[in-house]
Amino acid sequence: MSTPSKPRPRCPICKAPASPDHLPFCSQLCKDRDLLKWMNEDYRAPVAPEEEPPRD
Ligand SMILES: [Zn+2]
Repeated sequence: MSTPSKPRPRCPICKAPASPDHLPFCSQLCKDRDLLKWMNEDYRAPVAPEEEPPRD
């Protein structure tokens, strides 16, 4: 089964057509940008909320 009219995915960073080599991004640059974005959000998030010590 194939979908010949399937639209090419777009880069979530710059909305350019994605490159098969860098899916779902258009280039290594956007791949890196997305990774940095996630890392930045990770830094801002509180660390391991489940490890909160129980109240006494
Ligand atoms: Zn891009």
